[in-house]
Amino acid sequence: MALRMSSLFVRTQKEDPVGAEVASHKLLHRAGYIRRSAPGIYTWLPLGLSVLGKIEAIVREEMALAGSQEVHFPGLLPADPYKKSGRWEAFGPDLFHLKDRRENDYILAPTHEEVFTLLVKDLYSSYKDLPLSIYQIQTKYRDEARPRAGLLRGREFIMKDAYSFDIDDAGLDASYEAMRVAYLRAFARLGLPCLPVKATPGAMGGSGTEEFIYPSEVGEDTFVKSPGGYAANVEAVTSIVPEAIPYSESPAAHVEDTPDTPTIETLVAAANASHPRSDREWTAADTLKNVVCAVTHPDGTREIIVIGLPGDREVDLDRAAGTGMLGDGEVDLEAATAEDLAAHPELVKGYIGPGNSLDAPVLGLEAPSKIRYLLDPRVVDGTRWITGANEPGRHVFDLVAGRDFVADGTIEAAQVVLGDPAPDGSGPLELARGVEIGQIFKLGRKYAEALDLKVLDQNGKATTVTMGSYGLGVTRVMACIAEEYHSEDGLLWPQHLAPADVHIVVAGKGEEIAQAAETMTTELEAEGVSVLLDDRNKVSPGFKFADAELIGIPTVIVVGRGLADGVVEVRDRLTGEKSDQPVAEVVPTTVARVREAYAKAAAAADAAVSADQNA
Ligand code: ATP
Ligand code: MG
Repeated sequence: MALRMSSLFVRTQKEDPVGAEVASHKLLHRAGYIRRSAPGIYTWLPLGLSVLGKIEAIVREEMALAGSQEVHFPGLLPADPYKKSGRWEAFGPDLFHLKDRRENDYILAPTHEEVFTLLVKDLYSSYKDLPLSIYQIQTKYRDEARPRAGLLRGREFIMKDAYSFDIDDAGLDASYEAMRVAYLRAFARLGLPCLPVKATPGAMGGSGTEEFIYPSEVGEDTFVKSPGGYAANVEAVTSIVPEAIPYSESPAAHVEDTPDTPTIETLVAAANASHPRSDREWTAADTLKNVVCAVTHPDGTREIIVIGLPGDREVDLDRAAGTGMLGDGEVDLEAATAEDLAAHPELVKGYIGPGNSLDAPVLGLEAPSKIRYLLDPRVVDGTRWITGANEPGRHVFDLVAGRDFVADGTIEAAQVVLGDPAPDGSGPLELARGVEIGQIFKLGRKYAEALDLKVLDQNGKATTVTMGSYGLGVTRVMACIAEEYHSEDGLLWPQHLAPADVHIVVAGKGEEIAQAAETMTTELEAEGVSVLLDDRNKVSPGFKFADAELIGIPTVIVVGRGLADGVVEVRDRLTGEKSDQPVAEVVPTTVARVREAYAKAAAAADAAVSADQNA
């Protein structure tokens, strides 16, 4: 059944939604695909559901091809399994909790590892049952701190989440690889450029994990790539750690007056003026900068820590928080406030250091403050530093790591910058921004252990199952497709994802024109080509064209005055081509074009997989 603009439940909007910054958010709202109901929560209108359905269909086909079977869980779940796995706490304030009338804890599921694990435990008991891959396409709830950009970061959103169950590591590797291929194929069919990058597991735990990134300026993720093919989220980049340096010959540390040098810049200038080196100038890289930060743990406790790093580097709070080195679960990291500093008078603003010798440590293992002191991994034993002497206007020189100070651990907290070496030696890194559209994890046995998922192995021995989990943000993907495919005037979907295959505009008065458009609609639909017919009376052609541009179906057929000469105008908005075509030809040529576009999109999957294998 054709969609008809005369009755379709849609009202296009002239105004962008309040606060909208990105094109997908503006256009999906203005073209009448979605409607905001609360921050980060959207209502779906018929046009929106149509595109969403096409995206889901592609995802379903690729899941089936990868051997995964569809199930469907409730979104409302008892909290108990999440308490057992530790994620009741680890998710922190992102988790929506509620209580039932008997005061039992429930959650609106942010992701479903726990209950998938329990379902398999419920039904399976032998190695012969494995491997198993199951998935769902389902609504997730996360009380995101900063919902933004419409569907890109919602508090309610749709995710495809798949889970694999294997008896051993080799099985998990194979399951993971099958899913990875399914993702490459699905994103290619969805017309989204994407790059698998190394990632950090965050609150999920587990060993290997990759994110699929859609490169775009609207993204919140920074990723890196090298000429040699290394690609990673900045959070997952590891620094190349130099060898420790012997320090038996190093001069003793000495404290110097360096008045008015609270910044690295002023310190370097003062050091060169009053305490010059004989071999070269001091630079920011010779200084050890100590940055006071506040960690908020999932249970809400606030911990003050100090991060020490070379003075030519800035702290990247997101990277540091994402490393998993600050504690279990999702932690938040921010610069310490004036209040935090006031609570720790031993930290002298502008002149903070780990202490001038191991006999009187101010920060680090033995220090009375007990403030955790974490160092950039490049600050290896034997390196010599100028750093704060914990007195206003004074710095200590030749402070040697390992000899004069010891930290509580290391952390990858420094901003990764253009030209930093790739950890695998494949060349200098480039940085770019992108949106995470999917992430796949080798979870290993964490959830199976927490929830006691065991099967009997070949020898009749109970063995813990190893798992993978594979998320793909369906609604986020739709926003990304809208980002990738739009014009100044509206959305502009890839042909095979448009809410209808063809948009027919009745652009003229008279029964004949209307009838010709109706006939064309019937004929196209008989060939399996879906139509949105703008059959509205008393709406000007200009208005109809503007709506067509906003709605974004790439093939537009205009039935108007040309009909008297036996032609209609066919517009291909993707190429900008316009041509008059004889009425008798327009149906078969349009059917052929639409079918070709679907076939081309399907074929893109194989190409993407071989490109990845060759990389
Ligand atoms: P992010 O880092 O962007 O918050 P995440 O790493 O927390 O995402 P996962 O737990 O890996 O997300 O979820 C799997 C997929 O679900 C993500 O790759 C993303 O595509 C999608 N997703 C996650 N959070 C949201 C959200 N708030 N709105 C829309 N999609 C989301
Ligand atoms: Mg993720």
